[in-house]
Amino acid sequence: MPASRIELFERAAARDVLAWLRLLTDPSDSSAVVRALGRPPIELRQVDIARVVQVARKAKLDIVAALGPAIESPQMPPEARERIERFQALHEEARIAFEVLRPRLSCSPQELAAELTAASEARLLGGEEISQTRAQTLQETVELMREEVLGGALRIAGRLGELRLDTDLDISHGVVRYLELVKLAALKDRPPGQSLGEALADINQRLLAACTPLQREIFQTSTLDEALLASERQELKPSSAGASELEPGEGRSGGYASDEHVQLERGGTQVAPKVAVAAPALGAFARREEPSLQAFLPRRGDGVVLSASDIDTYRACPLRYKLGRVLKIPSAQTLHQRFGIAVHQVLERYHAAEHTTIEQMMELFESCWRRGGFGDSNRERELHVKARAALVLYHRRLEAHEAEPAWFERSFSFKLGPHHLRGRVDRVDKLADGAYELIDYKTSRPKTAEQLADDVQLSLYAVGARESWEVEAERLSYYYVLDDLKVPVPSAEMDPDWIARVVAEVGEAIMAQRFEPTPSPSVCGLCDYRIACPAWER
Ligand code: SF4
Repeated sequence: MPASRIELFERAAARDVLAWLRLLTDPSDSSAVVRALGRPPIELRQVDIARVVQVARKAKLDIVAALGPAIESPQMPPEARERIERFQALHEEARIAFEVLRPRLSCSPQELAAELTAASEARLLGGEEISQTRAQTLQETVELMREEVLGGALRIAGRLGELRLDTDLDISHGVVRYLELVKLAALKDRPPGQSLGEALADINQRLLAACTPLQREIFQTSTLDEALLASERQELKPSSAGASELEPGEGRSGGYASDEHVQLERGGTQVAPKVAVAAPALGAFARREEPSLQAFLPRRGDGVVLSASDIDTYRACPLRYKLGRVLKIPSAQTLHQRFGIAVHQVLERYHAAEHTTIEQMMELFESCWRRGGFGDSNRERELHVKARAALVLYHRRLEAHEAEPAWFERSFSFKLGPHHLRGRVDRVDKLADGAYELIDYKTSRPKTAEQLADDVQLSLYAVGARESWEVEAERLSYYYVLDDLKVPVPSAEMDPDWIARVVAEVGEAIMAQRFEPTPSPSVCGLCDYRIACPAWER
């Protein structure tokens, strides 16, 4: 596809059209529906999107089908109901238009949607540095915010015709948004040598002089300056370990399942591994108009509830955490995820039933395979053969009695500071010398011990075993089932306070609702929410 067409599909408006095409083609494409609901002309607030998703999950409906029951919900405010009705009317119009268009398409709608999605993501997934293509400079931030200001103007204009008591507040927010756009443009052109802090003080003073008291209050409580300064600090930092590295996913894994385990930098105070410079500013900018998502955070007591996977997800990309764990937007399981689940189920059931023979294991496998809804494609057949061979090796290893399995699928739950940690260890072995080894099964490509040096999951499990079961684990290992390979996580030199610091940082950031995207090709490549993510637009 020519570069100019690829660029076109990276633009926000083109991605809006793409989202509509995708949701008309596949109503269960939740990310596309969420984008269409959140973007003009609907602009349903995130807190209301979270309510709709809640209704959808409860009623086991896709999000479009759940909009009807969601309107009836007493928790849905009148303004949100109007926006949903607007979406429904537009959806019906678009559906009819799409049906008329369908026979004239030279390929299937699914193929068209897939081709356009690929075009909109080609450069970033192709490995082009996001820091080069995403908003990295103030100039690009200005452009992103200009679009927000124009969108805000249309929204406020629409509200002028409504009988509302808070119109002046809307207008003041719009004016402050415009002033902030002026601020960004002025910062971009500040004299050489002037620091961001100095420039902000000067520009703020001049802009405040033009404000009404209400606008002044909104302007002064804005978090934009804070976000800009944080961005600058981030920019000045020496480059870190780089983007977090995710397990290979479908299509790139060469036969491995994606456990989506993330390897991240350790020890620093930096929560997010890599931040597009404008993203925090834009995130802060957008957040001001959004009501708090407090009610949807996984709160318990004074903290939040976290698993190792929650922590990994947040550290890889806070926005991805928010979309998946706070708004709980459903995402379709990939073939490799389903495969990983099936293999885990076989091992779990085999041990729970205290089976002993390879025949019993294979019987369980065939039953899990059937229930997993696998088809007859070449890829699925290949995975089937791989799994059977791997289970034979697993069984042989068990019979060799290298260690005595003590527990399988043992859960833990404990408090670390104000936060609640929970998880489940696949297997705990008692070794010949009486020490314990925690083992987590993986169906992904094996990692080396060096690659696992910054591992969150087993480090957390070790604390969980100590706190919940009073078991001191001497060894921590990943067992790569498909390769019959056990890789120990180096624990000797582990800083015992490191995991506590990570939990504290992530927990605090979630409670403060810091959900800025931190795009990078390796993390975004495995993210189901790309179509809903503003970090992918120019
Ligand atoms: S696409 Fe990338 S930046 Fe956006 S939410 Fe997903 S991981 Fe984060």
